[in-house]
Amino acid sequence: MPELVFFCGTMDCGKSTLALQIEHNRSARGLQGMIYSRDDRAGEGKLSSRLGLVTDAVEVGDGQDLYSHLVDHLSQGGRADYVIADEAQFLAPEQIDQLARVVDDLSLDVYAFGITTDFRSKLFPGSQRLVELADRVEVLQVEALCWCGARATHNARTIGGVMVVEGAQVVVGDVTHSADEVGYEVLCRRHHRRRMTAATSRAAALSPDVLPVTSA
Ligand SMILES: [Zn+2]
Repeated sequence: MPELVFFCGTMDCGKSTLALQIEHNRSARGLQGMIYSRDDRAGEGKLSSRLGLVTDAVEVGDGQDLYSHLVDHLSQGGRADYVIADEAQFLAPEQIDQLARVVDDLSLDVYAFGITTDFRSKLFPGSQRLVELADRVEVLQVEALCWCGARATHNARTIGGVMVVEGAQVVVGDVTHSADEVGYEVLCRRHHRRRMTAATSRAAALSPDVLPVTSA
């Protein structure tokens, strides 16, 4: 039975690496995938992993109907044996419904990869719809670590290394970035709640009397 599978986790947990591995394994067996992405760190029309691998992808636009896109592709003699959707948290809920329809009506496996929650620990709408519709949700086992060494379960947005909790849900950035840019850092829940990033923990260790001491 074809399936809609949602592979999820924090930033930096190896989602795109796994997407590329699935793509590689299937193309090695002669299968051809339709690969969608959106706002990949390597630029438009790419699916890249932090380990340096990259492949071409279809850049999903606002309001694009993914089911129609696949039907058009197939009716024009194109081939698609399975579908990969990377950065699926950036897809609209309707686009997730379209991917479910691809599974049910076109009998294709759809593998979606995405971050579960945003920098305020709220579900992305696309990820929420995937949790609602997926046949399987797989939490990735390559676990990212907080600076304290605990399992990182939350994404923090930072500016100059300091965690921020205001702003638009989607601001493209990365876990590697220069000092004053918007960046992201994965944290354990405890340090996400205390808004303590690697940089602020270092600053607190260097000058404990300067920063307020958190009690909880
Ligand atoms: Zn921590």
